[in-house]
Amino acid sequence: MNTVYTFGGGASHGDPRATDKTITGGKGANLAEMASIGLPVPPGFTITTEECVRYLREGSDFSDKLRSDVAEALTHIEKTVGKSFGSASDPLLVSVRSGARVSMPGMMDTVLNLGLNDETVKGLAATSGDDRFAWDSYRRFIQMYSDVVLGLDHGLFEEALEIAKEDNGYFADTELTAQDWQSLVAEYKEIVAREQGKPFPQDVTEQLWGAIAAVFDSWDSDRAKVYRRLNDIPGDWGTAVNVQAMVFGNMGDTSATGVAFTRDPSTGDRQYYGEWLVNAQGEDVVAGIRTPQYLTKRRREDAGADKPSMEEAMPDAYNELARVFELLEQHYKDMQDIEFTVQQGKLWMLQTRSGKRTAKAALKMAVDMVAEGLIDEETAVLRVDPMALDQLLHPTLDPDAQRDVLAKGLPASPGAASGKIVLDADTAEQWAQHGDKVILVRVETSPEDIHGMHAAQGVLTARGGMTSHAAVVARGMGRPCVSGASSVSIDIKARTLLVGNRELKEGDTITLDGATGEVMYGEVPTIEPELAGDFATLMEWADRHRRMNVRTNAETPADCRMARQFGAEGIGLCRTEHMFFDAGRISAVREMILAENEAGRRKALEKLLPEQRSDFVEIFTTMAGLPCTIRLLDPPLHEFLPHEDAEFAELAETTGFGVDHLKRRANELHEFNPMLGHRGCRLGITYPEIYEMQARAIFEAACEVAEKSGEAVVPEVMIPLVGTKRELEILRKLVNDTAEKVFSEKGRKLDYLVGTMIELPRAALMAGEIAEEALFFSFGTNDLTQTTLGVSRDDSARFLAVYVEKGIFQRDPFVSLDIEGVGQLVSVAAERGRATRPDIKLGICGEHGGDPASIAFCEKVGLDYVSASPYRVPIARLAAAQAAL
Ligand code: PEP
Ligand code: MG
Repeated sequence: MNTVYTFGGGASHGDPRATDKTITGGKGANLAEMASIGLPVPPGFTITTEECVRYLREGSDFSDKLRSDVAEALTHIEKTVGKSFGSASDPLLVSVRSGARVSMPGMMDTVLNLGLNDETVKGLAATSGDDRFAWDSYRRFIQMYSDVVLGLDHGLFEEALEIAKEDNGYFADTELTAQDWQSLVAEYKEIVAREQGKPFPQDVTEQLWGAIAAVFDSWDSDRAKVYRRLNDIPGDWGTAVNVQAMVFGNMGDTSATGVAFTRDPSTGDRQYYGEWLVNAQGEDVVAGIRTPQYLTKRRREDAGADKPSMEEAMPDAYNELARVFELLEQHYKDMQDIEFTVQQGKLWMLQTRSGKRTAKAALKMAVDMVAEGLIDEETAVLRVDPMALDQLLHPTLDPDAQRDVLAKGLPASPGAASGKIVLDADTAEQWAQHGDKVILVRVETSPEDIHGMHAAQGVLTARGGMTSHAAVVARGMGRPCVSGASSVSIDIKARTLLVGNRELKEGDTITLDGATGEVMYGEVPTIEPELAGDFATLMEWADRHRRMNVRTNAETPADCRMARQFGAEGIGLCRTEHMFFDAGRISAVREMILAENEAGRRKALEKLLPEQRSDFVEIFTTMAGLPCTIRLLDPPLHEFLPHEDAEFAELAETTGFGVDHLKRRANELHEFNPMLGHRGCRLGITYPEIYEMQARAIFEAACEVAEKSGEAVVPEVMIPLVGTKRELEILRKLVNDTAEKVFSEKGRKLDYLVGTMIELPRAALMAGEIAEEALFFSFGTNDLTQTTLGVSRDDSARFLAVYVEKGIFQRDPFVSLDIEGVGQLVSVAAERGRATRPDIKLGICGEHGGDPASIAFCEKVGLDYVSASPYRVPIARLAAAQAAL
């Protein structure tokens, strides 16, 4: 098995390992591939990743085979370029670069000009006819090698250079003469000898092996390890090493170096995009010491820059570059990000890879490339990162705008918004009614804040995680939200808040960036989304290729309409408790909760029935025959309790009970652990009249809409938090009995389904038995994650970030399903449910229904649909298509 693969100079071994990224790394594989399609690549060789793994395993020792293979490969380079390594008359110089399977910051990057020493520098001066160039190259080499291979402080060399410039009264590096560089080389060598206690290596072979070892060792550097952990890259991949003949972009005015994209990476336009510098070496372009110039004339003119573009200054090399761009796109069938050098008029390619791009550019390129016949629809669908669509669906902050960042929390719901700070929901509503844009700032939100969240442009909370109430509701409404910003502390009495050490007051303007979690002072300008055109085209293609349906989590007609615009094919979760908080209803709800007996509850429920019915009429009408899953009341009753004196007083008036009595009842209902308390189907079991009222409202509304529209309405009634078959049996009978009563009253019979959520580990395990009573399962993975991990949805923000940082969880399990753990319960439940009832309908309505990795898992398990908040619907459509392809 080869330890080394050569490329360039007509080397073609036809060994597929040479272009296999797992063997020769991303950079090496692409160099070999470029050379094999006839592009101008300086000759070189790649040491395999396998050798890196062996070297690290065997205690930093090179194998004999590697040593002899490298020597042989070096001869290949020497023959091709007609120079020899270490020669005092015509020396070969090489670059040494690392190159893992994926590009990985944190590892050793590059050593240039390797092979220079006190003798070869003279040869370089003679053959190039340029003393200054030769000595400048030598000092660059000493500096780079000392930094990345010997681990000496870069600053020592910079300092010496600065002093040399000062002593000579120079301003720019370009003013230094050959003589000056030569003295600096002497000084640099002294620094090395002093710092490492031995001289700078003069033996070129020693230099080469030193650099190879440094690349291998950098795989296990702390920085690389951190990067691997954060990006889920296995530690046993290793890195390849690329050794390549040097070409020089700094050999005068016919030489240059640059970086370029074959299309515009920010807009996706089919226009070359890049930067270059005349008479410069690679690192000068990125280092920002000199301002790079534009590649094309058009760009230069657009920018109003004076310095000529490459197209104008070096038309031949530019035309050759343009030809290479076209070849590369034809070959890789994707936009490429390349590095090139022009040495005395001749173009050389140093690297190519698929270029990073914005969401907008990704969409445009995918659609354009199908039109150009470069890729097919399936490839286009696979090319766009579903999460990137998020950037496109919401207004985003103008990237060029100034930001005065006050705090950072969790990016709980995307989009950007500015507005005046308001500290409670009622004020939010009032100010919004007067035309103010407001941002609701709360310690955390509860269902009572929904009207304020609706009125606000965005929501900021000091506490709460990615599935906290604020996060879930804001995502559903498409409002940007930053949650868990723990440096925010609110003084509700003084109507002020402290953010870090800055005090703000209600009415001050702030801006939220829900995509990054940043909270900024003042108003930061935003950019509106564009949903037609390429977006619509790609979505249409995605729909053609997916198997699963995509529904939405929504409960207001506005959200339902929004979700349908985004392509939702039904409602997967209508959280009825959210409807209980609408204007005017809350007091009837409170009356019901605080009632001491069934009669009291029924009285209050009677007030709620017509309200609920009209909600459902609107929803069924908006959804026009699409399936609608309506979940009966779920949250702990205590969430609806009044807190403030004014609320108790108001309630006393409407119910006729005294304030003291009401406060005592509220106290009795207080729960220590409401998430595991009197909630979900437990409410229906203990107070059946609540579910009975809701079922009645659903069926009456369905009959009314069916009658009016002539369209079949098939409600799916869903019972939450079931753990046992018996719970479902009791409640299903209640729903069925209510349906029968309504149907006989209305003289009309409708189809409907009764099913359950799977949100508890017991329900998942007992799914076979529970399926005897359920016509469908919907996986409530928010609660299932909470109950399986024993991690609170609402209190986890404080420690989950650390858990992710330390690699205990790869990602926040409330954002991306814990497939290994919670996923097992989903698989088991799906399997057991189907064993009992082969045609059982299976879906997911936890937040994970909008997460691409979780959606891929749902496809594997064979769920019928995923349900996501309206703004996540397009993401889910694309992710479902990718999962099916
Ligand atoms: C869930 O638990 O996953 C779910 C969808 O219900 P909720 O978020 O309303 O508890
Ligand atoms: Mg739940």
